Amino acid sequence: MLPPAAHAQVSKLEQHIAAVREDGRFVPARALQRLQEVETQARSAPLPVRAEFLTQLSTVRMRLGQNDLAMQLAEELIAYARLNKSDVALAKGMLCKAYVTFAMNERRASHLLAFEAERIANRTDDLPVRVQATISAGQSWAEEGNFPFALAKLQAAVDLARQSNSPSSLAAALNALTLLYTQMREYDKGFEVLDELLAVSGTLASPGRMAQAKNTEYGLALDAQQPQRGQRALLAALALERQLGARGMVAVTLVNLSDSYLKEGDYARALRYANEAITAARLVNNEQVEATARLNIGQALIGQGRLQEGKQSVATGLAYYERTANQPDMQAVLLEYGMALEKAGDMRGAVTAYHRERGISNQLFEKQRQKAVYELQEKYEAEKKQRQIELLSRENQLKSTEIDNRRLQQRVWWLLALVLAMASVIVGLLYRKVRHANVQLKVKNQELKRQSSRDPLTSLYNRRHFQEFMRSHAGKPQPSYGGADVVGALFLLDVDHFKHINDRYGHAAGDLVLTTIAETLHEVLRETDMIVRWGGEEFLAFLPAVARDGLDDIARRILNGMAAQNIHYQGQTIQVHVSVGFAPYPLAPLGRPLTWERSVNLIDMALYLAKAHGRNRAYGLRGFQQVERTTLEAVEQDLERAWRDGFVDFSVVLGGTDGMEKTVTQANQASDGVAAAAIT
Ligand code: GH3
Ligand code: MG
Ligand code: MG
Repeated sequence: MLPPAAHAQVSKLEQHIAAVREDGRFVPARALQRLQEVETQARSAPLPVRAEFLTQLSTVRMRLGQNDLAMQLAEELIAYARLNKSDVALAKGMLCKAYVTFAMNERRASHLLAFEAERIANRTDDLPVRVQATISAGQSWAEEGNFPFALAKLQAAVDLARQSNSPSSLAAALNALTLLYTQMREYDKGFEVLDELLAVSGTLASPGRMAQAKNTEYGLALDAQQPQRGQRALLAALALERQLGARGMVAVTLVNLSDSYLKEGDYARALRYANEAITAARLVNNEQVEATARLNIGQALIGQGRLQEGKQSVATGLAYYERTANQPDMQAVLLEYGMALEKAGDMRGAVTAYHRERGISNQLFEKQRQKAVYELQEKYEAEKKQRQIELLSRENQLKSTEIDNRRLQQRVWWLLALVLAMASVIVGLLYRKVRHANVQLKVKNQELKRQSSRDPLTSLYNRRHFQEFMRSHAGKPQPSYGGADVVGALFLLDVDHFKHINDRYGHAAGDLVLTTIAETLHEVLRETDMIVRWGGEEFLAFLPAVARDGLDDIARRILNGMAAQNIHYQGQTIQVHVSVGFAPYPLAPLGRPLTWERSVNLIDMALYLAKAHGRNRAYGLRGFQQVERTTLEAVEQDLERAWRDGFVDFSVVLGGTDGMEKTVTQANQASDGVAAAAIT
């Protein structure tokens, strides 16, 4: 809140500006001076005062033809209003801008500003501003040729003005409405409103307002074919304006008077007022009034028959209209001009004037047509664009859905690939494991097989393996060695007095003896020969291919090989001998080969003979003689008897002691305490 003193000061300033407001409308030069007097104070005053000050200053500048300054002030006011968020000030600023824009001949832009100002003003409860903005909007609609809209606005403005209790607002609204009715050629209604306008203006005690009302009356009367009333109104207006010192208004009224007398055919008065109008117009820099005065002068001169002078004056006046591109006015001027020339008998001049008028009319029509086409085109383009936008956005949607799908698909593929990769890794691992297990199984199987076919102590083949081998190989033809009498052979060995070794040195020593015997056999025999642990301390050797007369040698090597071994066990030396039974394999006593079992049975009996005849010796069954005289079974039952009876043929090989070879004689055999018969 302002202190009381300051408050009084502001209210004084407000009154000052309000007074200038009425003055400014009609005598702008003086108003400018009065505004400048309070400028500093007003510019630092509270918002409503400052806004009203800027409004008046802009309006006055505009009325003085200083459009640039007026525009600057309007923009300043708009910016100030926006900064302070004041719609009242903003509406005022927009109105100022609309008026300046109109003064600059930019009608359309001016109309748009006026419409905007009205919208903003109607957001406020400032009735005078709302009335003014509504009047401006209505006038703009009228200028656009939209009379129904214009009428609605101006009637609304009158209603608002009645509510506002502001006679000057009401006068302004009524004035605008009268002008509109004139334009609409609704003269009765026009005069009705005019009556009220004149009445209200009378109460205002404002010569300016009354002069304005009189000018309005002139326009209406002129159009309503009441020239005398019009002229009277003009003369009344002129008096008021002169009284007021409103030089701008005076100039306009003077030119209107010249026009009025021109129409009356009073060329002398028309000339006089027109010339006065030129002087007055120059004082206020009103080119339009001057140009109109020149046209009037021209027509008056033509009316007086001074054709050339008149035409020249008209040309000067027309030049202004051409320059300002004010086509509708020029059209009206040309029509009048044509009529004047026609009246003066200058038919060619008149026709030329009419042609020019037609030309402008056509141009205007063409412009309007083009405008309509442009508007249609714009609308079409806008719709087309909208459709394109819709199409694009639909396409966009489709595309993004597609992209989403593709992304999803990709994800599924990646997932699948990952699962596959993991699966193949697992399968690979499992495969490796299985392969490893298989290899191990194979090794185990081989081991098992080896174990099942080998004797654990000596690692020699066991009896089962030999049996299987013989079952699958017996009877197969034996390889023969280049012409020599090659046969297979079986040797069966039994350690002599092995029990004693066990008893004397222990079982482990016995085991050592057994492994030593196995090794000795490996040394003595060939690699291709099969050596088998036949039983506890019995060994069997199967020699697949040996010379028939080399068997004794082999037996001897075996015996001597054993005797040569000095087995060391716990600091003691153990000596072993073996007894051997052997025979060629297969044996075929009656031309038919015996089974391996029967062959082994026979050499087992030969081994028994070797034991019985003193041990450390080998008895080899060489062949059968005259078996047909006995039976093979009898021979197998008692080999010794068969030997004695001469059915079988033996060779006996004696082992030496201490590795020394002993002479082998058959005679020695019988002397060994065993019943012996002559052999061979
Ligand atoms: P002979 O000269 O008549 O053959 O007399 P021997 O003592 O060798 O014959 P016998 O059959 O009476 O004894 C064989 C012994 O061999 C009996 C048994 O305890 C022993 N023996 C069998 N197998 C093994 C073995 O693997 N290791 C050991 N240390 N002794 C065994
Ligand atoms: Mg034995
Ligand atoms: Mg033995």
